[in-house]
Amino acid sequence: MKTKESWAQRTSKPRKAIWKVLIPGILLMLVISGYWALPAVRQAQAGSKGQFQAGGQAPAAEAVTPAQGRSQAQAEALPRVEKITLTAAGDILMHNTQIWSGYQADGTYAFDFFEPVKDLIGEGDYSSTDLEAVLGGPEGGYTGYPLFNSPDAVADTLKNAGFDLVFTANNHILDRGAKGALRTLQVLQGRGLDTTGSFKSQDKPLLIKEIRGVKVGYLAYTYATNGIPLPQNKPYLVNLLEKDKVLMDIKTMRPQVDILILALHWGVEYRPEPTEEQKAMAQEFLQAGADVILGSHPHVIEPMEIIKDRNKNKFVIYSLGNLIGDQHGIERNSGVILNLQFEKDFNKGTTDLCSVSYTPTYSHSYIDRGKQKFRVVAVEDAIAQVRAGEEPYLKAKDLPVLEQVLKQTRGTLGKEGDPKILSPNP
Ligand SMILES: [Zn+2]
Repeated sequence: MKTKESWAQRTSKPRKAIWKVLIPGILLMLVISGYWALPAVRQAQAGSKGQFQAGGQAPAAEAVTPAQGRSQAQAEALPRVEKITLTAAGDILMHNTQIWSGYQADGTYAFDFFEPVKDLIGEGDYSSTDLEAVLGGPEGGYTGYPLFNSPDAVADTLKNAGFDLVFTANNHILDRGAKGALRTLQVLQGRGLDTTGSFKSQDKPLLIKEIRGVKVGYLAYTYATNGIPLPQNKPYLVNLLEKDKVLMDIKTMRPQVDILILALHWGVEYRPEPTEEQKAMAQEFLQAGADVILGSHPHVIEPMEIIKDRNKNKFVIYSLGNLIGDQHGIERNSGVILNLQFEKDFNKGTTDLCSVSYTPTYSHSYIDRGKQKFRVVAVEDAIAQVRAGEEPYLKAKDLPVLEQVLKQTRGTLGKEGDPKILSPNP
């Protein structure tokens, strides 16, 4: 998370010009209402924000002097809204060629995959991705497909790129057994990254982040673990995408958050659209209380859409595509960095999705001083830089590929003005 400001702090921000107009009206309201709002305001300022938002339940009133009461109620009467932006990127694959690309002369590893898109990854308030590999340690060697085991330096790369959260529920999380899955959590968390989707203990803590008073909860699941069974004594290790379980988790998390996000590792590989089963599941999860579904796993981009649910805009992207990997073909090297902006109205206690936008990306393999390297570029930026003669590794001959990536991504996801894209508020 980039910035943190508590809601209680926001209530005390001075906005004197507005107060001058509002004070007489508020005083009158207080007389009429008999200070009904005070207990809730006091509770919010004491830090019990969740309860106040969720139910507006007033705790037993404590003694409040009229002077204290007036200033608190004045703050309460001011319109208070907060906008936050959540960023999401697709799958991070770690093929053996990528592992070799980070090998250093001293035997360590270092990767700089995300340098060209660092600003985009870090632009929002909180940024997530899916790591489709384990960090199982050097024993047994680092390996790519089909059993992925990557150097710990990948965790540093993710952290340095600006990611805050790594989903670990995917079909490769058991590639090095339970030990590898547990070590992955330890390494990611050790670098200060949040994780969800796999867990080290039965209590499976819910991932809820508070961003300037807006509570965001993330749940992550995978359709399977490539035939490697979950250890019998650790059924909690990986969240499997079982409908009833997901519905139960939504029910548990919903009252605790303003925004509920599901990261689902699902779908059919290389298929450019979701299955009917996925569409039905998305509907059901959104109606059950989820606000957003972030899909991953197919290695290609699949459509996104706004789904109306009781006048609320809900959102699903069936697949974000690959952010990086060494797969071949235009579709498998296409991804997006997605921005979802929400607005919370603290007075009404409502939070709405107000903008959806994305940046098309391209996973680019190139040769630098005789060595194969990998990086992610923002497609439009790369095209502009090639045209300006400022792109070090892409040339005019690469333009048709970049233009095709852009065309296909826009074709699948839409462009601004499309009904499935919400334009940012002015
Ligand atoms: Zn997968």
